[in-house]
Amino acid sequence: MNDQLIDNFGRQITYLRLSVTDRCDLRCTYCMAENMIFLPRKDLLTLEELEELCGAFIARGVRKIRLTGGEPLVRRGLMGFIQNLSNHLDRGQLDEITLTTNGTQLSKFAKDLKSAGVERINLSLDSLNRETFQKLARRDALDQVLRGVEAGLEAGLKIKINTVALKNSNADEIPQLMEWAHGLGMDMTLIEVMPMGDINEDRFDQYLPLTAVRDQLEEQYTLIDTPLRTGGPARYIKVEETGGILGMITPLTNNFCAGCNRVRVTCTGQIYMCLGHSDSVDLRGAMRGENPQEALETALNRAMINKPEAHDFRINRDGTTPSVPRHMSVTGG
Ligand code: SAM
Ligand code: SF4
Repeated sequence: MNDQLIDNFGRQITYLRLSVTDRCDLRCTYCMAENMIFLPRKDLLTLEELEELCGAFIARGVRKIRLTGGEPLVRRGLMGFIQNLSNHLDRGQLDEITLTTNGTQLSKFAKDLKSAGVERINLSLDSLNRETFQKLARRDALDQVLRGVEAGLEAGLKIKINTVALKNSNADEIPQLMEWAHGLGMDMTLIEVMPMGDINEDRFDQYLPLTAVRDQLEEQYTLIDTPLRTGGPARYIKVEETGGILGMITPLTNNFCAGCNRVRVTCTGQIYMCLGHSDSVDLRGAMRGENPQEALETALNRAMINKPEAHDFRINRDGTTPSVPRHMSVTGG
């Protein structure tokens, strides 16, 4: 049995977020610039390599894998990949396979996901207003996403809605979105915008602290803090009037690093030990070189040594320079 993945601060890594593509069929303004240059396909890990990589992480104690992107459901062959990965679920080596999706392709894949062993997904949706959605995502795809939500629920997937709170955009719509999600039995999590990648917009115009959202919601709803934790950075609140759960992810107003149990791997096999740092280790080079198995173990050990204690996000009033130069779509949420 290989060693567990434990970093220099004694944190055990049990959660892998794997970006399977950097491509996406939307262009959310807080995530991407309109004209993104995507990676040449040859740079991507093949699905076989991704499987091998997941196997190496599972052998070293990873129990949960979240597939993300870009948009994971635009990667060709993904269903077969998930089916193969689910063998680890059947053998009890893995607790969960899940994914974060924008929902545009979900009506096509919901049933297959469920039969491949996916029980829960996160679906990102920032507005129920067609115009706001189109402005935010730079694509007119709200109806497609809503059909995806319907198909997902029908297939028996548990869906959590993720919404980025944006000052000049969906701020006033948050209560309505929450009522909609809770009305359909879906939990919802609000996310503060993070300063990642150049997006041709000033982050300061987007940034809405969730403390302000909470104050606004408290004028209308009874919010009860819960001790619920799901191993991630979100804090959870019960909303008495809707009976639903509202999560809040506050990277900028509330540091959540002490209990971090995760790493992120890009579709080119770069492992990032922290969302808020640029340090990475090249796993693809290890896998495509000599003695791949041994080289991969060594690279993973190096990653553990390099995992920083905490992120260092900041949004300044005076500038557009991102804290982290890579876009969120490189490592996924
Ligand atoms: N395309 C999929 C989706 O949108 O769900 C998966 C990848 S997307 C990068 C993952 C999550 O990151 C989404 O919920 C998205 O809203 C969020 N996100 C993207 N850029 C962000 C940023 N700069 N700050 C905060 N959240 C961001
Ligand atoms: Fe695509 Fe998701 Fe980024 Fe939006 S947030 S552009 S859907 S990767």
